[in-house]
Amino acid sequence: MSAPQNPVERADFDKVIVPSYAPAAFIPVRGQGSRVWDQSGRELVDLAGGIAVNSLGHAHPALVEALTEQAGKLWHVSNVFTNEPTLRLAKKLTAATFAERAFFCNSGAEANEAAFKLARRYAHNLFGPEKCEIVSALNSFHGRTLFTVTVGGQPKYSDGFGPKIQGIRHVPYNDIQSLEAVVTDKTCAVVLEPIQGEGGVLPADQAYLEAARELCTRHRALLVFDEVQSGMGRTGSLFAYMGYGVIPDILTSAKSLGGGFPIGAMLTTDRIASHLSVGTHGTTYGGNPLACAVAERVLDVVNTPAVLEGVKAKHERFATRLAEIGQRYAVFSGVRGKGLLIGAVLAEDFKGRAKDFVDAAEREALMILQAGPDVLRLAPSLVIEDADIDEGMARFERAVARVVQA
Ligand SMILES: *Cc1c(COP(=O)(O)O)cnc(C)c1O
Repeated sequence: MSAPQNPVERADFDKVIVPSYAPAAFIPVRGQGSRVWDQSGRELVDLAGGIAVNSLGHAHPALVEALTEQAGKLWHVSNVFTNEPTLRLAKKLTAATFAERAFFCNSGAEANEAAFKLARRYAHNLFGPEKCEIVSALNSFHGRTLFTVTVGGQPKYSDGFGPKIQGIRHVPYNDIQSLEAVVTDKTCAVVLEPIQGEGGVLPADQAYLEAARELCTRHRALLVFDEVQSGMGRTGSLFAYMGYGVIPDILTSAKSLGGGFPIGAMLTTDRIASHLSVGTHGTTYGGNPLACAVAERVLDVVNTPAVLEGVKAKHERFATRLAEIGQRYAVFSGVRGKGLLIGAVLAEDFKGRAKDFVDAAEREALMILQAGPDVLRLAPSLVIEDADIDEGMARFERAVARVVQA
């Protein structure tokens, strides 16, 4: 049925793709569960999960069914019309969270862009133009649009692109005093990741999120939780805020929400949402029927006690093996994170060498991630089989041995 295709290889990447990425040497062509096969037929264990995206692994039958069923019905109509999958997903997300309203888009950056614009518009409408400051944490990551890199706390992503968005204040993460010092009546929003993902898999302290909530309420600023990486079951709660019992005013989701199909969402209350009135914000693909049909099914599967409890049990299985390996080879100073967002912090002697471990893992047919130069990160499928965890950890130990003995 399909026309013959010209073969492509990794070398083509360096000729035809903008060089902003440096992908691995192999090209994945097929996946099933937590296994991936490359062009040569080599089978890899996937503990990277497409960077916390493939929440139900590869080719999960329920998601294949949702996607193909919707593909035969309706792909796109734009927001000139609404559609059934978008309404079903919004109903389910609002029923499952603090929120009453959803805004759909296509990525985490777009969800945050919407959140930041809403926070500013809300403050502008209610308190005037002076209340426009956004407070965020150093080392945080909120996406790659100009607004989101500016709010993000990593100058390497925001420098060199001309004038930045004004009115952003950065403070050290998990430092209550610094937060107290910058949140004022000019603050329109405090933006935090409940677990800093890209910044090194660093969970917020309970008292920190509680203090942020209290400061926002006192100064009539909105608390925005960026749950693009920590959300949709990743921590063993549907969203990480639920585990902390600290409720934001706006929450952003993406990554695991679509299980591999691009979608982002901003969730908020009726009262706040009303400030994004007709025409104030939008995106052509937002609420796309294919994306929403898949995300609805992801939510159906993930938001069940079996899957969420499973995430916590699988965390223990990983943590035990990582601690063993860390001890045997003296490579880690600690293992942190929640659920299936796990960071192994490299010991002093191996600082800066995360990439060497990722490369060694690749040679052992294992896909893992780094989170900065000093932390190895695992973000696998939330339903990864125990056998795949064990095989993945066996390969991981061989990769660690390679680096240590090199
Ligand atoms: C990945 C990520 C984003 C950006 O999401 P994109 O879909 O890449 O735009 C934003 N915030 C956090 C916390 C993330 O981990």
